[in-house]
Amino acid sequence: MSILHSLEHPVEAGVWRGSIPLEHRYTAGVAGERFLRGLKEGKVYATRCARCNYTYVPARLYCERCLSHLGEEAWLEVGLEGELLSFTQVHLDPSGHPLATPRWVGLVRLRGASGVLMHNLEGVTQENARVGLAVKAVFRPAKERSGSINDIRHFAPV
Ligand SMILES: [Zn+2]
Repeated sequence: MSILHSLEHPVEAGVWRGSIPLEHRYTAGVAGERFLRGLKEGKVYATRCARCNYTYVPARLYCERCLSHLGEEAWLEVGLEGELLSFTQVHLDPSGHPLATPRWVGLVRLRGASGVLMHNLEGVTQENARVGLAVKAVFRPAKERSGSINDIRHFAPV
């Protein structure tokens, strides 16, 4: 069977088992890097499209609604407090194994932002979890920050 031969039945397909060693590097891009550097300083930077009246968090270089370039004038710092828009309790790790202690994650809209961040929650319980709960970003100590979304350790009720 040649590579150009079309299969009539799936059972005719050949199978090769093995692995392909691949590495890749991810770049956060211009806006993403500035956003992450801000987190390292304990700040949350956004970009605002005046045309669409939409404030991106994380910051974007282009408005995904109208495709406008969001230049220097579009950058601003948003508040570290916001509201919980959605939440769930997580019982499994990313590999599907049960967590010793379930944890909470949620979508948070910071004050002044239109976009949301998904992050870990602490201090949220079955009793106080609700849409609209006021929460604040809790950063790691400055010396532990690396320019990562995890420089925010979690969000906690205000
Ligand atoms: Zn726009």
